[in-house]
Amino acid sequence: MENSILVESIRYPAVCQGCGAEAEWCGVQALVGEVLRWDVESTCPTCGYALAVCGGDLPEELRGRLLSEHGQARLRRVAPPPRNAATMRVLWAELGIGLDGVRAVLEQVLTGLYSGTLPETELLARKLRASGIEATASRTAD
Ligand SMILES: [Zn+2]
Repeated sequence: MENSILVESIRYPAVCQGCGAEAEWCGVQALVGEVLRWDVESTCPTCGYALAVCGGDLPEELRGRLLSEHGQARLRRVAPPPRNAATMRVLWAELGIGLDGVRAVLEQVLTGLYSGTLPETELLARKLRASGIEATASRTAD
């Protein structure tokens, strides 16, 4: 099992829920070993109101901010031998989607089109590598 920590973070201005002044928010998505985590926190410089949110699924808003700031990362399987059944088992277990969805994702992985945030794609790459399937996640240039 791979235990390294991978973190993507972003800072952005948003209105303080305490006083309405503009406060800076910090959002983080991290891959810790094989667990994805996220949190968002802010402390208002005007009134001191502090808020931290975490747990559950990554909010779409934060995911969108991370993707637009850092760009997408792509999951790629490193060449043969073809182990499509084993790859599909890992994807199915990790993504919790139906068989048709898994087939579509496999196709995207094989063609280098499957993308997400870097922590998300690195998690899948780690799970694949743990099953003996060489895979990499890397940020796209564009
Ligand atoms: Zn405030």
